[in-house]
Amino acid sequence: MQTRFSAEQLADPKTAEAESILRKCVHCGFCTATCPTYVTLGNELDSPRGRIYLIKDMLENGRPADEEVVTHIDRCLSCLSCVTTCPSGVDYMHLVDHARVHIEKTYKRPFMNRVTRAVLAAVLPYPARFRAALSLARLGRPFAGLFGGIAVLKPFEAMLKLAPTRLPAASPVSKPATHAATAEKRGRVALLTGCAQSVLDPAINEATVRLLTRLGIEVVVPEGEGCCGSLVHHMGREEQALSEARRNVDVWTREIEAGGLDAVIITASGCGTTIKDYGHMLARDPAYRQKAEKVSALAKDITEYLTVLDLPDQKRKGITVAYHSACSMQHGQQIKAGPKLLLEAAGFAVKEPAEGHLCCGSAGTYNIMQPEISAKLKTRKVNNIEAVKPDVIATGNIGCITQIASGTAIPILHTVELLEWAYGGEKPEKLKDLKRSA
Ligand code: SF4
Ligand code: SF4
Repeated sequence: MQTRFSAEQLADPKTAEAESILRKCVHCGFCTATCPTYVTLGNELDSPRGRIYLIKDMLENGRPADEEVVTHIDRCLSCLSCVTTCPSGVDYMHLVDHARVHIEKTYKRPFMNRVTRAVLAAVLPYPARFRAALSLARLGRPFAGLFGGIAVLKPFEAMLKLAPTRLPAASPVSKPATHAATAEKRGRVALLTGCAQSVLDPAINEATVRLLTRLGIEVVVPEGEGCCGSLVHHMGREEQALSEARRNVDVWTREIEAGGLDAVIITASGCGTTIKDYGHMLARDPAYRQKAEKVSALAKDITEYLTVLDLPDQKRKGITVAYHSACSMQHGQQIKAGPKLLLEAAGFAVKEPAEGHLCCGSAGTYNIMQPEISAKLKTRKVNNIEAVKPDVIATGNIGCITQIASGTAIPILHTVELLEWAYGGEKPEKLKDLKRSA
C-alpha cells in the first residue's frame, strides 16, 4: 500500500513503525473472510482491511480520531485471526495498538463510555478490588435486565450477567511462595498467578503448581507480580500498561538473578501474548529493553512448557474433549497443535469444533463493552462446540472459560486441569458428575 507520510511525521519512531506495517498491506482482502466482526456484521469497515484504511487515513493526515474510526476500532476484538490469515505478514497487532493509543490521546469519548472504561481499568487488574466488585455484582445480578433497556448502560448489564453465581475462596497459591519440587528436581520456573483468573478460577493455578512440582519443577510465585497489563493495553492506556510491564520485568529479573529461571509460566493465553510482547513494548526504554527481551524470551504458556517435559502416554479415558483454542493462543502466540497433542497423550479423545479460528467473543473486556456482537459470537461458538458432542470443553484462557460457560451446560476447564488429573491428580471438582462416554 502506498503511503504519504511526511518526513516530519516519520521522525516519530511509532509513526514510522505504523507506516512500515501499512506499506505491507496489498489490499488483497483475504483477511476479511476470517475476521469475526466482518463475518458477523458484513461491513468492510469492520474488517481488517477496512480498519487498516481508517487507521492509515487518520495517521497520514495527522487527524485526531473521530467517531467513525473509534466505532470500528472499538469493534475490533484484537483476536489477530487476520494476522494468521494475511499472506503478506501485515503486523496488524502493533498497528491497532498504535491506533488505540492515538484514539485514547485525541478522542473524548461520551461520558458513560469514559466512566465504564475507567471502572474497568481501575478494578479488573487488581484481584482484591475485582473480588469485592464481583461480590457486589452477585447482589446486583437479579436487576441486570433493568440496565439492558438503556443503550449506554448495556455494559453494566453484561458485567452483572457475567458475574459468577458462586465465587471461589481466595487460594493460597496466589500468595508469594516457593513450591518445592516433590520429585527429583529438573527445573525452576516463576508462575504468573494473574489478576482476574486468580479470583474467578484459582483451581487453574493450583492444578499448575501440583502438576509441575510432581514433575520435578520448583515453582516460584514471586513477591510483587501483578497484572500483565493487557487489559489496559487494549484500551490504549499506554502508560498504565507500560508501568505494569516494567513492574513485572523487575520482579522476574530479580528472580532470574537470585535463583535462575527456566521459564515464566503463564496460564492465561491472553496474558501470554502481552508478556511475549514486553520486549517490543519496552524497546524504546533503554533501562528496560534488554531485561524485557529476556523476560519475553522466557515467557511460556503452561502447555508449551509441558510439551518439552516429554510426558508419557496414558491409557484411554473414554472422555471426549472439545478443544477450543483461544485466539491469543492460536493467533497471538501461534500455539496450535501442542495443547491438543498433550490432551491426546494424556488419554483424552480430542475433537476440534468447526470454525475454530473464530473468536468466542470474550476478548478481554469486549464482552462488556460490545455485548451484542460478543453475544452473537458466543452463540456461534457454543453451537459449533455442542455439535461435536463433547463430555468436556478444554481451553487455555480464563476469558474464554467465563464466556463459553455462560452459554452452555457442558463443563469447561483449563487444559492444565485435565492434564493434572491425567498425571496423578484428583478428578477436578467441575467433573465430579462426569461419566465416561466411550
Ligand atoms: S490479508 Fe493482509 S495484505 Fe491482504 S488486505 Fe488483509 S492485511 Fe492487507
Ligand atoms: S483482530 Fe480480529 S476482529 Fe480485529 S480486524 Fe483482525 S480479525 Fe478482525
